[in-house]
Amino acid sequence: MDLDGLYQEIILDHYRNPHGKGLREPFEAEVHHVNPTCGDEITLRVHLVGDTVADVSYDAEGCSISQASASVLNDLLIGKSVGAAMGLLADFQALMQGRGTIEPDEETLEDGVAFAGVAKFPARIKCALLSWMAWKDATSQAVTLKEDA
Ligand code: ZN
Repeated sequence: MDLDGLYQEIILDHYRNPHGKGLREPFEAEVHHVNPTCGDEITLRVHLVGDTVADVSYDAEGCSISQASASVLNDLLIGKSVGAAMGLLADFQALMQGRGTIEPDEETLEDGVAFAGVAKFPARIKCALLSWMAWKDATSQAVTLKEDA
């Protein structure tokens, strides 16, 4: 199997068996993001314990890329510190905006490397980034809430 075929398999696997899907409590912030160009939607909740991403729960509708991306995000970010998770977000964003020119680091991005193939299709980049942008938004809100408390 070539690399593109392997990447497609990983994305389809996550799409068929999404990890951590469903909205859970407790949570500090909930957001709803939409990708109008494709029709993808996600409702995402973040639960922080101290500086740790304790849970990311979500309900998503839309294309296989947007849903697989939310599943991969769930695998990658839960249990990480907010700082480390923001670092992964930056790595994933760089990969998506690299238009297929960036060599993904499997050590840090794990199944996220499968989206390297998606980065070649500008119309699909927003699909892959939808859940990540929702997570960033919800986490900023959750962190601000904690600082105000
Ligand atoms: Zn989409």
